[in-house]
Amino acid sequence: MRYKDILDMHTHTDNSFDGNHSAMYMCECAAMKGLRAIAITDHVEIDIFAKGEFNRWARQSYFDTAKARAAFRGKLLILSGVELGEAIYDIPTAEKLLDTLHYDFVIGSIHNLPGEEDFYFLDVDKTSDEEIREILTEYFDEERKLAEWGKVDTIGHLTYPLRYICGEHGRKVDLRDYSGQIEDVLRAIIHSGIALEINTSGLFQKIESTMPPEEIVAQYRRLGGELITIGSDAHYAEHLGRGIADGMALAKRCGFCNLTIFEHREPIQIPIE
Ligand SMILES: [Zn+2]
Ligand SMILES: [Zn+2]
Repeated sequence: MRYKDILDMHTHTDNSFDGNHSAMYMCECAAMKGLRAIAITDHVEIDIFAKGEFNRWARQSYFDTAKARAAFRGKLLILSGVELGEAIYDIPTAEKLLDTLHYDFVIGSIHNLPGEEDFYFLDVDKTSDEEIREILTEYFDEERKLAEWGKVDTIGHLTYPLRYICGEHGRKVDLRDYSGQIEDVLRAIIHSGIALEINTSGLFQKIESTMPPEEIVAQYRRLGGELITIGSDAHYAEHLGRGIADGMALAKRCGFCNLTIFEHREPIQIPIE
């Protein structure tokens, strides 16, 4: 595929609590791999903003990205991004951050329900099917509210809890049970004029699927969705661009001719072929 490995709009550096490599090293590896554009999207978890050191991490990430962008000018387009977690649980804090740091690109993610820990910590084996249903119902509701708020550029890794519930713990979940709610999320994305992310990290995890899976990307297209971003969610330099070619092929099968990158918070369409 012509645009194999050309861009990656979801990456983490050591300015994320779960990152490993410096922005400069990530960018060097991205350029060596032949990528043409990456967004550095370190975590800022809005619901625990004051508890963590997110203010310092966010500024350091923004600064390191600016430095890398200058160093790689003409070789690699480096977009200054953020993965904004749980923004709608504390909107004033989220808005203040977005007013202060002038990002190119903002991913909106939900990693946990209000007041709860990341779905990573969910003790699935001690959770009944009924409780799983309640958790997922609340999760899709929060995703809808995030999309309605609309002050992000893309909705990151929709269906994230399934990485743990189905992938790591092998519990069966039928997404058709949530199809009405998922449709509401997708309609809110379209109404807000933002994008849906195809997150390819799951292809290399036990869930063996993009987040969201192909049927949801296809549903988004059928509803009139036009903007798709794509990212590997790399936390190591060696994972940069991983699965992007597969994600692009998936987007194409679903009827998309373009991928979207964001610069200065404005969408730019990149043809898939
Ligand atoms: Zn995430
Ligand atoms: Zn991420």
